[in-house]
Amino acid sequence: METVSAYFGCLVFDDRVMKANLSAKVYHSLKKTIDEGAELDITVANAVADAMKEWAVAHGATHYTHWFQPLTGVTAEKHDSFISPSPDGGVIMEFSGKELIKGEPDASSFPSGGLRATFEARGYTAWDPTSYAFIKDKTLCIPTAFCAYGGEALDKKTPLLRSMAALNKQALRILRLFGNQDVKCVRTSVGPEQEYFLVDEEMYDQRRDLRFTGRTLFGATPPKGQEMDDHYFGAIKPRVAAYMADLNEELWKLGVLAKTEHNEVAPAQHELAPIYSTTNIATDHNQLTMEMMQKVARRHGLVCLLHEKPFAGVNGSGKHNNWSMATDTGVNLLSPGETPYENAQFLLFLVAVIKAVDDYQDLLRISVATAGNDHRLGANEAPPAVVSIFLGEELAAILEAIETDTPYDAKEKTTMKLGVDVLPKFSRDTTDRNRTSPFAFTGNKFEFRMLGSSNSISCANIMLNAAVAESLRQFADQLEAASDFESALHDLIKTTVREHKNIMFNGNGYDDAWIKEATEVRGLLNYRTTADCLPHLLDEKNVKMLTSHKVFTEAELESRLDITLDNYAKSVIIEANTMVDMAKKQILPAVTEYAASLASSASVKKELCPSAACSYETKLVAKLSMIGDMIADKTAELESAIVSVRAIEDITEKANAVRDSLLVKMGELRTPADEAEGLVAEEFWPYPTYGDLLFGVK
Ligand code: ADP
Ligand code: MG
Repeated sequence: METVSAYFGCLVFDDRVMKANLSAKVYHSLKKTIDEGAELDITVANAVADAMKEWAVAHGATHYTHWFQPLTGVTAEKHDSFISPSPDGGVIMEFSGKELIKGEPDASSFPSGGLRATFEARGYTAWDPTSYAFIKDKTLCIPTAFCAYGGEALDKKTPLLRSMAALNKQALRILRLFGNQDVKCVRTSVGPEQEYFLVDEEMYDQRRDLRFTGRTLFGATPPKGQEMDDHYFGAIKPRVAAYMADLNEELWKLGVLAKTEHNEVAPAQHELAPIYSTTNIATDHNQLTMEMMQKVARRHGLVCLLHEKPFAGVNGSGKHNNWSMATDTGVNLLSPGETPYENAQFLLFLVAVIKAVDDYQDLLRISVATAGNDHRLGANEAPPAVVSIFLGEELAAILEAIETDTPYDAKEKTTMKLGVDVLPKFSRDTTDRNRTSPFAFTGNKFEFRMLGSSNSISCANIMLNAAVAESLRQFADQLEAASDFESALHDLIKTTVREHKNIMFNGNGYDDAWIKEATEVRGLLNYRTTADCLPHLLDEKNVKMLTSHKVFTEAELESRLDITLDNYAKSVIIEANTMVDMAKKQILPAVTEYAASLASSASVKKELCPSAACSYETKLVAKLSMIGDMIADKTAELESAIVSVRAIEDITEKANAVRDSLLVKMGELRTPADEAEGLVAEEFWPYPTYGDLLFGVK
């Protein structure tokens, strides 16, 4: 078999391919566009397009597509073939610079939240040259941004690129103050750890809830769940191992740096983590990873579930967003340096993140808000809905010493003075112990752990980058105006620590006492559901910050709020409809059929022995008939709740009704249905149980 290094990235038009296939002049001009955002002229674009086409055709491609991330949560592509008729009746393969740079998909069926008037159906896609093109399913995929003709973003990439530019601009101002003249650019990097479940395809096909909604809506607790803690890091089953090997190979060909894989806490749950890369590339790669995970699973007779909470009572799936900032000269700004001066710079960037997370807790919560993720956050398996920061004891002690002008090292009795002291290196071991924190410093990066497994990582990183850009802007304004840089720096770090102490918490984030302290004593926000948090996107401070850094326009924010609330309402309504359908067509008939079979055996008994006491069959029939009535009543209530919710026009009101009425009624229907599952004989039950699904893959 070929070695990995021989085929890694073989389907990617990467730097190696560009160097080999472009003239030196074209290559350097393209490099300038990639590294510095310089405009690409059309002759260069034509040359690049031609080389791309030649390379793609040589690798079996027949089509090309502008690959983009609309607001629906998946990726979109419209395939055009390279063919163009030639005068002799044949075809030639063609692809121009214009086609590379700009595409015009019919955008009318993508959500725009009112941004694109219906008469103006068209939007356009624009090439993101910083993310390499690749071949998938015989199609050359060109990563692109997607905008309306007025320039408003209709996708997730555009604001992400803008947020990266905003952070770059402000971070450079700070670096110049520290005398760094050689740095040209600061980029954020992300390594997203992706959790998922694998279930058997045949069983999946028998569950309407999984097929329509991605999660189980019914299901009695199995005799065995995750209580034995025997799955996490356990030996990987042969079928799963074969799947992982196949998946790795597909991802490596696409240049995705898939690195670690292991079993997770819940049975049938696994994780895949890549090596980190620049945020927009990491985002594209995470989308590709999710797509490949699902596709490759089918080849193995499996289905990959990316839903945040596929099974009640079993841990759900999230995504840890490991985030850092680094210069083009290779310096990680969240890594303590070798010299005292570098350390002062590190501390300033560190407190900028602390301030950002505190000031924009709501935006971070909003960035991970979906109906699916609401089942996880705060359910003692994932961080709470309250945002806080874990720094680890050592770093917390250093910040406290700075804030109070007291000695950090008790033995040395020296006061922590910036620009003088050397900071200790923070090893992972001392910083990574707390797994319950939503936002943890882990040595040289922050790990944001509230994301749901199916979320695009772009939303969280847009908010994070923008919020940090705002802290840095305020810092740069102050420091640039100061006459004595060092003392201004010291004061700034000190006051920032003092003002944002409340967001720092090193204890157990799963503890109820913490939620009480966080909300009642510290005044931190606790938006439990998507309906609670989303409307705060338009709070004045948020709009002001996001528009001032040109990450979003106000109209874009309004449209995004609309689309997200609408997605929330729609996805829960689909779940409610599926429950009604399953209850009426599968659960109630099964209960009735089983009761009938019990009743006939009860009557045989009665005939044989008329004087015998009430048989177990008779008692069970009575019980099942009562539960059946309850299921029927609750189904009818849910049906009428669906009708009322659907009739609500105002989207915020609708989302609130989904939270207060639909989700409640769904819970009420589930209880008797799950009870029935525990009573009805296996052969009568219409679909695979939790036990089958969770332990069915060998
Ligand atoms: P875990 O959290 O499971 O113990 P690691 O900390 O080793 O795993 O890595 C988690 C993820 O963090 C990986 O994707 C890794 O590439 C990424 N990562 C490591 N260093 C950085 C960094 N400086 N910036 C962003 N991500 C990073
Ligand atoms: Mg992690």
